[in-house]
Amino acid sequence: MCGIVGYIGSEQAASILLDSLSKLEYRGYDSAGIAVRNSTEDVQVVKAKGRLNILAEKTDGGNAVKGTIGIGHTCWATHGEPYENNAHFHIADDRNVVGVQNDIIENYQELKEKLTRHSYSFYSQTDTEVAVKLVDYYYNKHNGDICLKFMNTL
Ligand code: GLU
Repeated sequence: MCGIVGYIGSEQAASILLDSLSKLEYRGYDSAGIAVRNSTEDVQVVKAKGRLNILAEKTDGGNAVKGTIGIGHTCWATHGEPYENNAHFHIADDRNVVGVQNDIIENYQELKEKLTRHSYSFYSQTDTEVAVKLVDYYYNKHNGDICLKFMNTL
């Protein structure tokens, strides 16, 4: 079990995300991460293996990460060891797509092989990185309009 929280508003998102994630700690997790951005800056991703207080320390309670839009995630790793590289968030190389998920993608190996043939490389063992890069593939293929023919074959 794990958890996902999101915030968009006028407050700084990071401390709200950390506080919200603390309410989901009872569900169990082995790493945690936040991704925060504002309308002009690149997204910032911070993640840490272990307890949420390690992520809080790493971000000075969220103060070190600026932005009013964000998502937080506590992860229970199902693919790969629970270390920082496998922790969510996962991000595409061009930083256009950043994502988390709570589940298992059964056909991730097949998708990974197809994406590899399209020159994608992978830094983690997770199924989630594959999902993020699959979205990135379609995002680029359709010039940012991923609603358009999203489920086309690779
Ligand atoms: N399959 C996901 C992973 O290992 C599970 C993440 C989760 O449910 O927390 O990245």
